[in-house]
Amino acid sequence: MDSFSKEKRSQIMSKVKSKNTTPELIVRRLLHKMGYRFRLHRTDLPGKPDIVLPKHKKVIFVNGCFWHGHNNCKKSQLPETNKEFWEDKISRNIKRDTENIIKLIEMGWGVLTIWDCQTKKRDLEKLAIIIDNFLRK
Ligand SMILES: [Zn+2]
Repeated sequence: MDSFSKEKRSQIMSKVKSKNTTPELIVRRLLHKMGYRFRLHRTDLPGKPDIVLPKHKKVIFVNGCFWHGHNNCKKSQLPETNKEFWEDKISRNIKRDTENIIKLIEMGWGVLTIWDCQTKKRDLEKLAIIIDNFLRK
């Protein structure tokens, strides 16, 4: 039996699914080391950006390559079984992400998307440069 209400359950699921994933923690730690101050998960902004830098009017999304359909990325390859289902699901995610980014830009925010596969330890220096360029723009 389901011991949670529908709302409670979806609240829990959204926490499990979207908050404090490892790549996100890596990016947060990096920003912190670089001396940037930020806020997390501003629910009043389109797409609830993972990291918000109000002073710079910039937001950062840290996206899973699979779920957000990272173009030309090995990690975003769809499974052979139920391919149509996954194609449909991922393409809806991509569409939603794009819509949110457009809305944010229209509101005057700068948007950077960082992908899972960019947060490997050996690539952190490169990532720091990408972030720094973005925030200085
Ligand atoms: Zn990727």
